[in-house]
Amino acid sequence: MTNAFSYACKDCEGMEACPASFVAETTDEVWKLVELHAQIAHNESSTDWDSETREYLGTLIKPISV
Ligand SMILES: [Zn+2]
Repeated sequence: MTNAFSYACKDCEGMEACPASFVAETTDEVWKLVELHAQIAHNESSTDWDSETREYLGTLIKPISV
């Protein structure tokens, strides 16, 4: 049963070397963590992401059970 969502930065194209991954109860929370991580670790602002980038990142957020 799905009760959480996970995101692994290394699944993202070009981020294979990044060890960060997140698990949270909702996709909303995972998005916040991804945005914060992008800013801190990759110096990337989520406000620069276009809808295509967001769609791509969204496919990397996986439902899991913990
Ligand atoms: Zn990363």
